[in-house]
Amino acid sequence: DNKTKTILSNLGINAINDAFSTGSTWGSAPGCTVSTISSPVDGQKIADVNMATTACYDKTILKATEAFTTWRGIPAPKRGEIVRQIGLALRAHKDDLGYLVSYEMGKSLQEGRGEVQEMIDICDFAVGLSRQLYGLTMHSERPQHRMYEQYHPLGVVGIISAFNFPVAVWSWNAMLGWVCGDVCVWKPSEKTPLTAIACQHIVQTVFEANSVPEGVSCLVIGDRSIGELMANDTRVPLISATGSTRMGKAVAAAVGARLGKSLLELGGNNAVIISEHADLNIALTGAVFGAVGTAGQRCTTTRRLIIHESIYDAFRQKLVNAYSQLRIGNPLNEHNHVGPLIDHDAVEAYLKSITACKAQGGKFIVEGGVLSGDGYESGCYVRPCIAEVENHYGIVQHETFAPILYLIKYSTLNQAIQLQNGVPQGLSSAIITNHLREAEAFLSASGSDCGIANVNIGTSGAEIGGAFGGEKETGGGRESGSDAWKVYMRRQTNTINYSTSLPLAQGIKFEL
Ligand code: NAD
Repeated sequence: DNKTKTILSNLGINAINDAFSTGSTWGSAPGCTVSTISSPVDGQKIADVNMATTACYDKTILKATEAFTTWRGIPAPKRGEIVRQIGLALRAHKDDLGYLVSYEMGKSLQEGRGEVQEMIDICDFAVGLSRQLYGLTMHSERPQHRMYEQYHPLGVVGIISAFNFPVAVWSWNAMLGWVCGDVCVWKPSEKTPLTAIACQHIVQTVFEANSVPEGVSCLVIGDRSIGELMANDTRVPLISATGSTRMGKAVAAAVGARLGKSLLELGGNNAVIISEHADLNIALTGAVFGAVGTAGQRCTTTRRLIIHESIYDAFRQKLVNAYSQLRIGNPLNEHNHVGPLIDHDAVEAYLKSITACKAQGGKFIVEGGVLSGDGYESGCYVRPCIAEVENHYGIVQHETFAPILYLIKYSTLNQAIQLQNGVPQGLSSAIITNHLREAEAFLSASGSDCGIANVNIGTSGAEIGGAFGGEKETGGGRESGSDAWKVYMRRQTNTINYSTSLPLAQGIKFEL
């Protein structure tokens, strides 16, 4: 429609888009294949993109490597000032970019705008950070010596991102990377390249106005083969990769083999413990939003509810009632709660998991299914469903990226914590309780083993101020707030002798 056309043109999206960009230069190369991007919202084609070849990738890395020698010499607060302006540009484009996130990826318009807000927030955070890249000073054991540590820029940061947060995750990495003095090469998900192209255009306007050299912000559109090139490339000292655990294991092996650094943000299998001391209204809203928001396609989506036996039946009934009121449909219509899955493969995976769950003994109390007919033409809309299961079922141990919620009953808090921890992943976790002892036990060393542990908040969503990430098969990486910036820099310890002799450490004597 005309609205979509106007928004695409505002954001620099053409009918056929280039495979790579190093800044003002955009290009493709002989041998690029074309990928057609359609919206899961209505099945309509949005645009074509050229997929980068190895030659496109090499050109990009070369430019990025060159740009680094200039960019690292610009004082960090000056780099922060440029990131401040990116925040302003994002504010100006918030509605358009939020719309495109929603239309290309399928999340609700509110969540699309929320994702752009998260980008704005990380810009603000990064501006402050640009004056706070602090190292420690130490007292030397030797007289007239000074010791301190400093953080230097690392180089090229390769960013591999997933489809479900098509722009925010890149901004978490890029804004911090830039204030730290790094240059960034972004390989977005092949399912959501258009929002990435839009971001590159927005950043480029700011970079041009500030005479930032070509190569500080680079984009390579491609599938996993480009990600593999990056992971194996010694010119890229840090790979920040967000996606499935399968991808993370491949990236970690490739980066590890060359002793590079990787920051991995992988799958979750998040649970909420609902205690007999819970505020059930908080529990219900938190659980339902956590399970069906973004159609169950958040890394922090609530996949398991671990419910105390004394309230189990009553809470189950509340869930069934709430699910019967969910409105599934076009996510651009703010009246709807649940939008589509990303594509038909995701629908297949959802159906397979339901079948597997039934075969393993799961009992569905809210049935799933694929929707068809008016408004559901894309074939990507599915019914959020709920099954009663046991934690050890193979399917429950696995992250299915769809709105399937598993219910598990518990009798003691220790048992609940064991169930919560009893999966291979370790991203987000929560307890709903008004009982101080329970809450503190859940947060203690023998409590949740996840990177994120909440009390009286669901598992889904996070603020940029904290370090984000998880343990075990979630990959161990942390990005966004707190001191996550340190991974984007190399640390150097400096010892300076201003005496007239050369005393050695540990009192060692060596005389010539
Ligand atoms: P995916 O693993 O299929 O793809 C993610 C990215 O990795 C894509 O850009 C893809 O091209 C690339 N890729 C795939 N295989 C690769 C390889 N062998 N080498 C290099 N690159 C490769 O994931 P997806 O379907 O796009 O996203 C969903 C997954 O992402 C879920 O598991 C979700 O939990 C996870 N996720 C995690 C976080 C987090 O912060 N922990 C955030 C968002 C999504």
